[in-house]
Amino acid sequence: MLQQTQVQRVTPRFREFVERWPTATTFAAEPLGEVLRAWQGLGYPRRARYLHLAAQRIVDDHGGVVPDTIDELLRLPGVGAYTARAVLAFAFERDVGVVDTNIARVLARVEGGRLTRAVAQRVADGAVPQGRSWWWNQSLMELGAVLCRPAPRCQECPVARSCRWSRSGRRPPDPAVGSAGVSKPQRRFEGSRRQQRGAVMRSVADGPQSVADFDRSIVDELHADGLIQLDGDAIRLPS
Ligand code: SF4
Repeated sequence: MLQQTQVQRVTPRFREFVERWPTATTFAAEPLGEVLRAWQGLGYPRRARYLHLAAQRIVDDHGGVVPDTIDELLRLPGVGAYTARAVLAFAFERDVGVVDTNIARVLARVEGGRLTRAVAQRVADGAVPQGRSWWWNQSLMELGAVLCRPAPRCQECPVARSCRWSRSGRRPPDPAVGSAGVSKPQRRFEGSRRQQRGAVMRSVADGPQSVADFDRSIVDELHADGLIQLDGDAIRLPS
């Protein structure tokens, strides 16, 4: 939920979500259309679909209990290296490094050079203090979100003395730029396909709509992603 949406907006929605669907089993039993309706305003609806598919797989293959090994987590739909490790660190408190965009930026700068995905993961795993992964990963995320931003605030940073890039006087280029896992600035939302997809999803959340009212290629894209159902000339949320 936080990937594209600010924390203040996500917090009440997250609470509603987990109150309504407290377990993978209750969530998996819900029609996808209801899940997509509840996801309105939280960005990329594809993630809601993956979450739903993952819950179904958790019910089918793991008896409704979220698995706690990296290999099993990676086999769930929509779960990649980041999500699998985030679940391990934050739900199961295992000693793994979580590399999101903020942490990837911090690691590249502290190491003083562009990192590949594998190296960033190795550095992240190696840095976790034993038994404190929850606390450690939260702290690094916060450091990246608050201080080690694209324009960093090194004067206030608690790791400035061991940060190679800062110690170099921030000699260009910034190692975070082009490092694996560091997201690039998003393209403009206004007029984008993302905006058009969002408009279609908002409309169908209110009820069936006519295909003719929307750009056909956007409709086909959403249909191919499994996010809408096509019934003749009408589109609706999947049942
Ligand atoms: S010293 Fe500066 S560049 Fe290094 S981690 Fe801290 S904020 Fe980032």
